[in-house]
Amino acid sequence: ELRVRFAPSPTGPFHIGGARSALFNWLLARKEGGKLILRIEDTDLERSTRESEENIKAALRWLGIEWDEGIDIGGDYGPYRQTERLDIYRQYTKKLLDAGQAYYCYCTEEELDAERQQQMDKGETPRYNGRCRQLSEADRNRFIAEGRKPTVRFRVPDNQQIIFKDLVRGTVSFESNGVGDFVIVKSDGIPVYNYAVVLDDALMKITHVIRAEEHLSNTPRQILLYQALGLPLPQFGHISLILGKDRTKMSKRHGATSVEQYKNLGYLPEGIVNFLALLGWAPAGEQEIFSPEELIREFSMDRVAKNPAVFDVDKLNHINAHYIKQASPDRITELALPHLRAAGYIGEEMTPEQHAWLVKVVAELQGYISYAAQITEHIGVFFNDDINFENEEAHEIMRDPDIPKVMEAFKLKLAALEPVEPAAVQAILKGITKELKLGGKKVYMPVRIAITGKMHGPELINLIPLIGKERTLARMDCLLA
Ligand code: GLU
Repeated sequence: ELRVRFAPSPTGPFHIGGARSALFNWLLARKEGGKLILRIEDTDLERSTRESEENIKAALRWLGIEWDEGIDIGGDYGPYRQTERLDIYRQYTKKLLDAGQAYYCYCTEEELDAERQQQMDKGETPRYNGRCRQLSEADRNRFIAEGRKPTVRFRVPDNQQIIFKDLVRGTVSFESNGVGDFVIVKSDGIPVYNYAVVLDDALMKITHVIRAEEHLSNTPRQILLYQALGLPLPQFGHISLILGKDRTKMSKRHGATSVEQYKNLGYLPEGIVNFLALLGWAPAGEQEIFSPEELIREFSMDRVAKNPAVFDVDKLNHINAHYIKQASPDRITELALPHLRAAGYIGEEMTPEQHAWLVKVVAELQGYISYAAQITEHIGVFFNDDINFENEEAHEIMRDPDIPKVMEAFKLKLAALEPVEPAAVQAILKGITKELKLGGKKVYMPVRIAITGKMHGPELINLIPLIGKERTLARMDCLLA
């Protein structure tokens, strides 16, 4: 049975790259009928917070990435939070120490820094010089008497070639001589990532480790540990980095980077999931819009690309716009509310009538936006009765000698109209073109400009009923006065 895991460190906002890793693991698990395990890697005690852990879980649930085992739901291989597994790590550390595969290191930070500096000055790649590999009894006792707290270092075997077949990158090889003996347990007794991850993946019976490329350089250390511990190796697959459009590593400079930011802007989870799936995975055909079910059906590791994925916001917007169009106006209204409030269009409280009106307005605008917050850029025409021509071109159109006739006719007919509905408004406008023998351009555009000041916007015949008879007439008077 395929068992994959997502193992985030709860140290800050949940990055879009983390969501992509989670998604690929989830797709693989669902595709193969396997299990997705959620494990929390919180050994960085200073930076890990429960709040961040909660955010990650909430974001995964929002995206529809459900895990089968792990934190919150349990399973046969728990606990699933690393700080609750310290006893387990301790047992294995003892084994490694007893077998001489690891040793206590009493070097201080200052000593190690000085050593590193020396090596760098000589142009060498810094690596631990192995001083504590063979400590004499006397030295050890002296260090202990000095009150030094030891770390535990893994004894890296000499002259070994570490070769593995990465599911994405193909054959990868490293020389063990390039890897100095590395710390596996810090002086406070907390294991480092490279060590805990190996024990957890092995004990949780993970078969495939799918994670970000930035961990590729950790993999040889991890493989050496698997070998020393006599544990079976999983398959590794390192998915490419995510770059901004300028081809530098995605960062805050490129805009929103956390899942929460996109959620708050009113992106839809189905849009984000669709977009993230295409970030490093390429479907066989040209199709761009995928439901989760389709993604599960189509996904395969051998279509995951080696080269970096470029985070193209325009593409995200294009994909999300598709889902926004399909979504119910109620749902989009809900997502737009905080932004409409922040922009001052609506207050904290709304009557049911106001709310119902707002939903209709949103329905009218849904086709023009990529995410809910963008509603604020389009909704002004429904609220602002104080109309100005948006530009000289609009002004020019309204100077046409036929315009006063058109305006008079429209005002008269609209005033007499009851109820004001799209079809009826359409009929009025059509009637005017016939009576005055004018082309549609001379009627529709000027009426729109008279009501909104703008040359483009939502369907005129829908706009007028939503603005209502009184306000429409008042706007025309104010602009034409
Ligand atoms: N906790 C690690 C991270 O968030 C997990 C790396 C891995 O998947 O092995 O980067």
